[in-house]
Amino acid sequence: MNTSIKTELKTERKNIRKIYSFFRPYLRYIILSGFCVVTYTAVTLTLPWVVRHLIDSVFVDKNGELLGKISIGLIFLFILLGFVAFLRNYYMEYIGQRVTADLRIGLFERLQSLSINFFDNRRTGEIISRFTNDVTIIQNAAVNIPMTLFRQLILFFGGIAIILYMNWKLTGLIILLVPVVITAARYYGVRIKKYSIKVQDKLGSVTTILEEVISSIRLVKSFVREDYEKDRFSRQVEKTFETALCRLKLSATFGPVLIFLTYSISTAILWFGGLQVIKGNITPGELIAFILYAVMISGPMGTFARLYTQVQEALGAMHRVFDLFEKQPEIIDLPNAPKIGPVKGKVKFNDVCFEYTSGVPVLKNINFECSPGEIIALVGPSGAGKTTFINLIHRFYDPLRGTIEIDGNNIREINLRSLLLQIALVPQETFLFGSTIRENIRYGRIEATQSELIEAAKAANAHQFISELPEGYDTNIGEKGIKLSGGQRQRLAIARAILKNPRILIFDEGMSSLDNQSEALIQEALENFMAFRTTFIIAHRLSTVQHADRIIVMDQGEIIEEGKHADLLKQKGLYHYLYTLRLFEE
Ligand code: ADP
Repeated sequence: MNTSIKTELKTERKNIRKIYSFFRPYLRYIILSGFCVVTYTAVTLTLPWVVRHLIDSVFVDKNGELLGKISIGLIFLFILLGFVAFLRNYYMEYIGQRVTADLRIGLFERLQSLSINFFDNRRTGEIISRFTNDVTIIQNAAVNIPMTLFRQLILFFGGIAIILYMNWKLTGLIILLVPVVITAARYYGVRIKKYSIKVQDKLGSVTTILEEVISSIRLVKSFVREDYEKDRFSRQVEKTFETALCRLKLSATFGPVLIFLTYSISTAILWFGGLQVIKGNITPGELIAFILYAVMISGPMGTFARLYTQVQEALGAMHRVFDLFEKQPEIIDLPNAPKIGPVKGKVKFNDVCFEYTSGVPVLKNINFECSPGEIIALVGPSGAGKTTFINLIHRFYDPLRGTIEIDGNNIREINLRSLLLQIALVPQETFLFGSTIRENIRYGRIEATQSELIEAAKAANAHQFISELPEGYDTNIGEKGIKLSGGQRQRLAIARAILKNPRILIFDEGMSSLDNQSEALIQEALENFMAFRTTFIIAHRLSTVQHADRIIVMDQGEIIEEGKHADLLKQKGLYHYLYTLRLFEE
């Protein structure tokens, strides 16, 4: 066996063990379902026996009394079967749903723990597909496959044992069927598996497009690209359909082929067995029971083949799910990393170099120091490295070389959570969750009281417009805050940051143009907030740079100028150039 197959098998075994660790808490339900499966199958196996007695002892011997007894017995038997089937179905589905829920929650927790660079390299749709499609496949497979297998094995071997005992010559005919069915099953199994994997991949692409369109619906609409997106989407959906159709053709023919094989053998048994009945070697009841068993046994053979393809599909899904489960965050705390308390807000970069992609420097030897409470405006052409600078203060990434200190602590050596508690971010794309205004502000500090929340909204100049809304703080804002104006959203984001009460504030002003009134309100809100806090602003507005204590001009990953607005203008460097090009909004 070559090594790649070996490692694949090893991973599969590991994944199967892991999936069953999710089932362990529900062991008693599994045992109960297993018990029901055994009972149900055992009863099913006795039915041909009953038929045999019906024919031989009731119809041939014309025994009316026995007919009554058997009928009453059957009613009880069917009640029992119904009850057992209910328990089995209920608990199997229960376990499946429960494990799916646990799996999704665990996966979500893991996903959130991963560092930012994981998300840089993934398409959202593909991750979502693992949470939805793959988890559903596992849910179906992990419970149904073992239980079905269990049931069919009992049917198969139980059936064979009974018919061997009844008539070994006729059994020989059935045994002949086995290699034929296995060959057919393998032929179909391999092909169905191939198409199943393809369908799954294609479905991932469909989800990806869907996610992309939903998240950039404004862009789609403003470029009037609905038709283009519809084409792109329907092309993928059609491809999925075609692949599913190929799989369907195979699986749809597989059933009839099996049925043909089964009935041919049954006919052979009927003919051969019929002769025995005529000769008086066996009774008619025996022959009918025998044929019923033959059909019963061929069922499992078909099922084994179908299960094989389902197992393959589930193994693929498990692989994708556990691949995510096993991802480790790259940015982690050192053992016993100390927590920092409220800091003063002194930030220092010592010779910091950074790259996202190996060999492509994005920040080059950045040296920088600010005192607590300073307001720093970062300016420079797009791609200069301003966002990256901010990312590093958050420790979203670690520098390639050099260190970043906050109040003299190297941020790599302190507890990451305690570091992030010191920082609040007001991003450019003001992200609001699709719930109420209250919940959106409270996101800054979940345990904040009602009056603290209103204080924060007031400081952010947001209280007034919120109060004017019919439902006030309980207004539900649509996904990503679609119903609020840009200025209002930004003020909510500022209120959220104020509520967090950080020592370091990071504000990405963005290019979005605001009307004068909004801008003035935001400016005022920020001034309230910036007092006593170190503030970094990625600045695009003239008013912002004029208010800053210091302006840092970045270009191609370097700090090339530093100072106040008036001084920088006098230097006639890049800042002056940007200014004269009117790159700041006035
Ligand atoms: P700015 O905020 O000044 O516009 P950025 O810090 O966003 O600049 O980007 C600096 C450089 O790093 C750009 O060349 C950009 O293409 C690159 N970059 C930014 N983010 C990533 C990322 N996640 N992966 C790879 N390259 C990136």
